[in-house]
Amino acid sequence: RHLPYFCRGEVGRGFGRGSKELGIPTANFSEQVVESFPSDISTGIYYGWACVGNGDVHKMVLSIGWNPYYKNVKKSVETHIIHTFKEDFYGEILSIVIIGYIRPEKNFDSLDALISAIQDDIEEANRKLDLPEHLKLKEDNFFHMPE
Ligand code: ADP
Ligand code: MG
Repeated sequence: RHLPYFCRGEVGRGFGRGSKELGIPTANFSEQVVESFPSDISTGIYYGWACVGNGDVHKMVLSIGWNPYYKNVKKSVETHIIHTFKEDFYGEILSIVIIGYIRPEKNFDSLDALISAIQDDIEEANRKLDLPEHLKLKEDNFFHMPE
């Protein structure tokens, strides 16, 4: 109902849940950005487009979840960009458009099950974002920041 949802904000530090060790780094939005999100947006996994600073627009998968660091009273919004970056981009401005919903949050019995679920999410995002109606949003003026 809130989609497509456009959002821009600073990349903050996560809480060392080791996403990088899984090979799946997630850029966490800072707290202020998360608080500006519609409070009734469903938690779960989404797909869309993302760009760091004035960089290229890439496919992404996004997780909106409850943040264990804040005893699950605050949400976290984490973007995995489907692209290999040369460097980390903490403190930079991340622009995203959230386009579609993939699935609700789940608990997994094993790390392997978690990783394979995320790989499925990435595959689904990849497929969906190639649809013409979704490619259109990649070119949206939102991603061309004014000087
Ligand atoms: P944290 O717990 O601090 O969020 P992560 O292990 O989730 O740490 O890694 C996230 C960081 O990795 C991002 O803030 C960003 O600087 C960097 N990064 C590098 N490549 C990517 C990518 N493809 N998608 C998202 N973040 C990336
Ligand atoms: Mg993270």
